[in-house]
Amino acid sequence: MTWAITQDRFERDPALESVFAVGNGYLGLRGTPEEGAPAHDAGALVNGLHETWPIVYPEDAYGLARTGQTIVNATDGSIIRLFVDDEPFDLATAKLHRFERVLDLAAGVLRREVEFETKRGQRLAVRSTRLVSLEHRHLAAMSYEVEALDACVRIAISSELVTHGPGEASDDPRRGKGFAEKVLAPVAARAAGTRAVLDLATRNSGLELAVGMEHAVDGPVESCAEGDGARVVLLADLEPGAPLRLEKYVAYHWAAGAPEGDLVARVDRTLDRATHDGYETIERRHAGHVADFWRRSDVEIEGAPEAQRAVRFNLFQLMQATARAEGLGVAAKGVTGRGYEGHYFWDTEIYVVPFLIHTSPRWARQVLDFRCGMLGAARARAREVGHRGALYPWRTINGEEASAWYAAGTAQYHINADIAYAFRHYAWVTGDLGFLLGDGSQVLVETARLWMELGFFSERRDGRFCINSVTGPDEYTTVVDNNAYTNLMAKENLEGAVRVMQWLRGEDPAAYAELERATGLTDAEIDAWLRAADGMFVPRHEELGIILQDDGFLERKRWDFDGTRHKRPLLLHHHPLELYRHQVIKQTDVVLATYLVGHHFDEHETRRTFDYYDPLTTGDSTLSACIQSVIASEVGYPEAALAYFEQAAMVDLADAHGNTADGIHIASCGGTWLALVAGFGGLRDFDGDVRFSPRLPASWERLRFRVQVRGQLVEVDITPSGTRYELLEGRGLPVKHFGEQLRVLPGRPVTVAELPLAA
Ligand code: BGC
Repeated sequence: MTWAITQDRFERDPALESVFAVGNGYLGLRGTPEEGAPAHDAGALVNGLHETWPIVYPEDAYGLARTGQTIVNATDGSIIRLFVDDEPFDLATAKLHRFERVLDLAAGVLRREVEFETKRGQRLAVRSTRLVSLEHRHLAAMSYEVEALDACVRIAISSELVTHGPGEASDDPRRGKGFAEKVLAPVAARAAGTRAVLDLATRNSGLELAVGMEHAVDGPVESCAEGDGARVVLLADLEPGAPLRLEKYVAYHWAAGAPEGDLVARVDRTLDRATHDGYETIERRHAGHVADFWRRSDVEIEGAPEAQRAVRFNLFQLMQATARAEGLGVAAKGVTGRGYEGHYFWDTEIYVVPFLIHTSPRWARQVLDFRCGMLGAARARAREVGHRGALYPWRTINGEEASAWYAAGTAQYHINADIAYAFRHYAWVTGDLGFLLGDGSQVLVETARLWMELGFFSERRDGRFCINSVTGPDEYTTVVDNNAYTNLMAKENLEGAVRVMQWLRGEDPAAYAELERATGLTDAEIDAWLRAADGMFVPRHEELGIILQDDGFLERKRWDFDGTRHKRPLLLHHHPLELYRHQVIKQTDVVLATYLVGHHFDEHETRRTFDYYDPLTTGDSTLSACIQSVIASEVGYPEAALAYFEQAAMVDLADAHGNTADGIHIASCGGTWLALVAGFGGLRDFDGDVRFSPRLPASWERLRFRVQVRGQLVEVDITPSGTRYELLEGRGLPVKHFGEQLRVLPGRPVTVAELPLAA
């Protein structure tokens, strides 16, 4: 079954709380049991709802990040506890006759069926479903049915809102920060009949959260709400064969500075609407949106059912992380867990946006608009550290830099260029050039500007433009000179800004004049960008014929890979400096550049570069295997490409990095799509020119996917006998197949028979 993730035996596996989480990009519910326990990290995730705290440095320095930001463990609305003859039903201790939990990827719903026996020998069945609505951004809905199987039993159902206490602290830097006390303080609470609503506020960050629950149930209930919790309780006598059903709706709204009572009123309205619709309608409409997502986004694999299932799981996670984010970012763990503190990184622009551009361009636009909204904070940050332009934070929720570790954090200036790259990729491929008329162009100006502040024309390098003291994507090699990835992406940023400015000046002189006014842009500045881009220094090793990761990369000693095989990830076992002084790579760096800006390399250089760096790459970050797969495909290593693809696709289903409990690795989910479409499909279209170089893994019978380009939809169907391109929507699209120009017209699919031989 390739449309479901199934668990058919109860086990206490914290990773499954993330795997079975449901979410819509705004709200997420962890996959904890309905009964609330046993749980590793129960709670809800509300995108952007964060607490702030002062970062204290024992040894301070100017310009270090001052305010930590951590996603809040929001009030848990998923809890529905069952008592039989006043004894709580508990999965960990009950005698279970049947347990099945299914994440239905087609419908977007989590279902569970349990049959258990009480200590007195009475058997009951519980059937429940849970979803976070794609239709109603603020709503989670549940249905819960209990049935006595052999004798009449007396039950109580307690449906709850619980604000959990702080979790245990951890030494793992990838986990979230543990607070000493609850972050959400009660403001008001009320309960009446089947409804209860809580109003809460963060202690420091000045944010307010209103959360409420409503129920549809036959029978009298009692309810209470106090402080940060609430309960609605139903007592009933169950006759065999006459199940009792409860529907529960939970609404979340958060904001900063909302007028008094506003969020609570919004919660009430969300709950009123849910009650009016009823669970069936809510589920049907939600499933409709999920079906639309699959029509746009599914990737089909024949001949490898496990890979197919894993791929659908990854794509489903991308949907859950982005669908209703609307004005918020995409956190490293989406809304499935609190790992990496709920922060937004470059993961979004480089790993998630390509998928969105080609399947849900509207969602891509929203994510990029969100970065535009952060421009003010990025400008302020640049000024703080003495620069013109904008400096985007390496990790953030509210727009301010939250990285307290500058070497492997703040120094990753490449995030500026990554954002600019995504802006242009989006505009060229979707054709939404309007995006570049407004805020988009300001971001390009301000990011381009920053490179001129950081870099200089170096006499020692024959006047080439050099950028020193930065960190590239590889966090095991930090604060280096001329990181090739950074320089190449900066070059792209500068050239891209020049091209967009030239286009804008001709296309819309009024918008250009406004941009000049808003940013103080001058012609001389644009000329300087062009000179810097043209003169950008890219370190190469002539004898080896490779691009150097940075000026000094080869000066470092090779890491002892054999001796440290069992100490993964290395960052949990070695002092950072030990890693920094060796040739050891956390994640693809130059190799990522050979994908993103591949036009700067010929195929031999790309292959030799991959050959050199791949053995040094630990893959300690999940952002790595997917890109290794893409380039292994390109340079003709099909077995490696497949192996890396499988690693990427299984990161969370296999809990391969041992931290899925902290949340799903969303970048790797996007990377899995890249491994399929850019790797096996060979898609390259950064500049809007669409090229494919399909290479089907030898053990697969088919790979079929669809991509949107400028409002047209093309399906690419790769089988061992050839590749078929069909235009499903649109008027005609030129595409290249291994360099050969094809024109795909409506109703006239093109099949190209020959495939280059897989190595
Ligand atoms: C990686 C970063 C990434 C972050 C969040 C780190 O382990 O090295 O590149 O942005 O995780 O996913």
